[in-house]
Amino acid sequence: MNKFAACLSAVVCCLLQLVPLPTAANVVDADSIMTRRMDENLCVLSFDDGPSRFTPHLLDMLNDYGIPATFFLVGGMAEKYPDIVRRIVEEGHEVGNHTWSHPNLRKISREQAREEVARTNDLLTSLGARPAHLRPPYGVFDEHTVSVAESLGLTVVLWSTDSKDWRRLPASYATLRNGHGSVYPQGKTHGIFLFHDTHKSTVNDLPRIVKELYEAGCSRFVTVGEYLGGQADPEPGILMTRRLPTVPLSSAAPSPDTPVELLQIQLVERPEKTPEQQ
Ligand SMILES: [Zn+2]
Repeated sequence: MNKFAACLSAVVCCLLQLVPLPTAANVVDADSIMTRRMDENLCVLSFDDGPSRFTPHLLDMLNDYGIPATFFLVGGMAEKYPDIVRRIVEEGHEVGNHTWSHPNLRKISREQAREEVARTNDLLTSLGARPAHLRPPYGVFDEHTVSVAESLGLTVVLWSTDSKDWRRLPASYATLRNGHGSVYPQGKTHGIFLFHDTHKSTVNDLPRIVKELYEAGCSRFVTVGEYLGGQADPEPGILMTRRLPTVPLSSAAPSPDTPVELLQIQLVERPEKTPEQQ
């Protein structure tokens, strides 16, 4: 190879590394969540990393509101709190797979990655859940993750709006930036919202989360399976029969004057800089 060809090859190689991996058809990312065609503004409350000792209180409140949620459970936590997993299932919420020990799936071997997902699926299934979705920790995955998920009948699902609740509670849930880096126009809010039920502050903030998202345009809260069209939910009828929620209006309303720049919300997820919580 002459000098020019070698140089060209290096440049092409560099450029290829800058181009993000193509999104597989069976990966639901922020863009596909936000642009999904729907007749109303569906919203999903998704809680990662549990179950935790705070989850029962969250379930109590969700039950009072009549709102289904989707829990992306960590296998190790599910093993510690099997009764909470059973309760999540019995109360009509959706359970997803969030790996066994919450690793960065791109930094462990292929065998370990498969074990992380498969072992969690086995446990969740033994507890009555029927996982249809895998949310890789930190939102980090590769083609092998997708292949493992596929082999277990799972779709990789990320989120469209990250509350960053592990860092601090946002000043307003209505003005969180979505996956396109913008705030939804008033009345247009929809998508899959990321929270963590391992944080007591998040669980205690559920009334404000629900109230502010309703006021921002969410017409109805559904599970991930319902949001994606119901194909992944084997029994969507369970949730469709839920009564309409009654949202208390006594919670503090978001201030319309809150400058977006003060919310300190990152536009793009940067998993390598985030601590273990996500
Ligand atoms: Zn997580």
